[in-house]
Amino acid sequence: MSGSNQESIKGKVVVITGASSGIGESIARTLALHGAIVVLGARRINQLEKVVSDIKLLGGQAYCLKTDVTVREDLCSLVDFALERFGCIDVIINNAGVMSVAPLSELKVDEWNHMIDVNIKGVLHGIAAALPVFKKQGFGHFINISSVAGLKVASPGSTVYSGTKFAVRAISDGLRHEVGGQIKTTVIEPGAVQSELKYGSSHLESRSRIIDFYDKIAIDPEAIAKAVLFAMTMSPEVDVNELVIRPTMQDF
Ligand code: NDP
Repeated sequence: MSGSNQESIKGKVVVITGASSGIGESIARTLALHGAIVVLGARRINQLEKVVSDIKLLGGQAYCLKTDVTVREDLCSLVDFALERFGCIDVIINNAGVMSVAPLSELKVDEWNHMIDVNIKGVLHGIAAALPVFKKQGFGHFINISSVAGLKVASPGSTVYSGTKFAVRAISDGLRHEVGGQIKTTVIEPGAVQSELKYGSSHLESRSRIIDFYDKIAIDPEAIAKAVLFAMTMSPEVDVNELVIRPTMQDF
């Protein structure tokens, strides 16, 4: 394993939610390649095991546990799993998320609730699991994945998704304010990135519009993984609080 930042993140213990595909998977592969020990959570255990096995084949260290971020105990188990094996946790990346796009008038209330459960409560469950550990250790780093939809309401269609991503920014900023000094916080707002996210809408018109948009401009998830690496490799007194990463072609 080699890499220009290898020394600075080598041996760091990083818990990543939503690591079975897309951005989370890319972050896991990139950090492991640079020497971090990655502990991966998501619901699709087969996909997680494939990522773990690929990382191990390259000489990296990776572990996984089936995790549903809507269940608080699952996040506690994931954090405990890492803590029991390695004695500390350096970073938690609250990345798991879903996007269901449709005009509000379609009343996809179950999808609204699901986005709230995964995108907001999932992040809060990650914070609740890691915060006591970070406080006890006297160090730690939260990296939360919001979106450019958390900077501007992407309407029509993405209003509720935007609401959840505004919430991730708000929670991240409050967290930074409360724990700064000991614990780092970073919120990342990606623009369109190639992943499975674009398939999450049941409203057919919105779904095909989103897929078409992503197919035209979306960037590789490695761009977000590199941003995570950047935030993690800053010296101890530097806290990278917020990063926006868009395709050059994206105008919002
Ligand atoms: P993917 O759909 O490829 O990945 C989403 C990940 O979240 C999967 O690993 C999925 O795993 C996991 N996940 C979903 N629900 C749950 C759950 N209940 N419990 C645990 N894990 C869950 O999309 P992305 O990689 O694009 O998304 C990652 C994050 O990036 C999300 O928060 C998304 O909102 C954000 N984002 C993405 C952008 C993009 O353009 N792609 C732009 C801006 C932000 P599993 O199904 O196995 O549980």
